[in-house]
Amino acid sequence: MRYISTRGQAPALNFEDVLLAGLATDGGLYVPENLPRFTQEEIASWAGLPYHELAFRVMRPFVTGSIPDADFKKILEETYGVFSHNAVAPLRQLNGNEWVLELFHGPTLAFKDFALQLLGRLLDYVLEKRGERVVIVGATSGDTGSAAIEGCKHCENVDIFILHPHNRVSEVQRRQMTTIFGENIHNIAIDGNFDDCQEMVKASFADQSFLKGTRLVAVNSINWARIMAQIVYYFHAALQLGGPARSVSFSVPTGNFGDIFAGYLARNMGLPVNQLIVATNRNDILHRFMSGNQYVKETLHATLSPSMDIMVSSNFERLLFDLHGRNGAAIAGLMDTFKQGGGFSVEEERWTEARKLFDSLAVDDAQTCETIAEVYEQTGELLDPHTAIGVKAARECRRSLDIPMVILGTAHPVKFPDAVEKASVGKALELPAHLSDLFERDERCTVLPNDLKAVQAFVSQHGNRGKPL
Ligand SMILES: *Cc1c(COP(=O)(O)O)cnc(C)c1O
Repeated sequence: MRYISTRGQAPALNFEDVLLAGLATDGGLYVPENLPRFTQEEIASWAGLPYHELAFRVMRPFVTGSIPDADFKKILEETYGVFSHNAVAPLRQLNGNEWVLELFHGPTLAFKDFALQLLGRLLDYVLEKRGERVVIVGATSGDTGSAAIEGCKHCENVDIFILHPHNRVSEVQRRQMTTIFGENIHNIAIDGNFDDCQEMVKASFADQSFLKGTRLVAVNSINWARIMAQIVYYFHAALQLGGPARSVSFSVPTGNFGDIFAGYLARNMGLPVNQLIVATNRNDILHRFMSGNQYVKETLHATLSPSMDIMVSSNFERLLFDLHGRNGAAIAGLMDTFKQGGGFSVEEERWTEARKLFDSLAVDDAQTCETIAEVYEQTGELLDPHTAIGVKAARECRRSLDIPMVILGTAHPVKFPDAVEKASVGKALELPAHLSDLFERDERCTVLPNDLKAVQAFVSQHGNRGKPL
């Protein structure tokens, strides 16, 4: 499988290289040159497979040429073996034909484990074969950091540095990162906000000379491997609800458009999907595009669903690429306009094309809490705020009651106690067994000033399993 850039000017790469790449050299994102397509018979024959077996069938075309089948199978069995639920991604019924796909049974209790548990193992496999080492420098406002650290903690060939804004992530989120020890794991609290952290990561990718010859790998969702891993659970859910004979709809709590883009790909690979709902919080750039064909940046608001607090959705470029007939020059033009502070609209027929599949809703904090309370009252299920936004959007935007509606349950409520408290459902939150002593564990973290040079000096002093590069 070959991968091409959404801006048309970077060299095509194979899977191995795309795994190790960040942005393409032309500033674009990598996508498969040709998407695999499965027949209905083929998809139907996968019903009842264990999760890792299904994952093998769905993802195999993306890695052929880079990873032999037997090795890939073994990696997938290990990856999904660490999830605490036997079904890995169980479905829970809320109402008649309404389901939550629980994607929070991984080590860090959010759906990001599905991709980052795999990414860590794939990186180590590929780097071992090439006799190389890499450094990860990532920024997190919460969920990505812990999932990346959990995913890479056993990697022999990866040193990982995660930057989080000092005193601005929840205690559960911080402890999920700082209580994992290893000579290759480094938590850095920056005296600044999330944007400051992200800027430092971007600047480090742009000039990697401080790494003295090793290279950086991206763990955010611009990394293709993360999107690839997320395609699987759309198939998994649909197969349990009568697919592919019957089509299924999905409502997806959305920030960077990574998770829902995976659903779009599942549909293009042959899975009958009736409707994809983009559920956002008050940071609603995607909702404004889907409802009014305006893609315009606005100021960032802090909400009760912090993992979706974004101004711009990086993966949206991957959808725009398809909407423009995969014309890289057109995307480079749009992105230039956008960068110069302008927003943009796309041509009417392209937007109409998107609207055949996508609907959207923006949900504010008050509605989020109302939904948590409402669902708890109706079903006894306690939702996290992100999932609640997905439920609200599903209920508002649903096109057909006959088609099963699956809401992606992106996190466990215990990660977001503020929202759950505000919803005042009167139920105490409990950490799952494997994290029950989280608040008693020792923490390890280095506080650094909001200064690129200081951060890069720290990385180069510790980037070789705690020793200088
Ligand atoms: C990351 C995250 C999201 C948003 O996912 P995207 O792929 O960025 O759209 C939603 N909910 C939770 C809990 C998350 O951690």
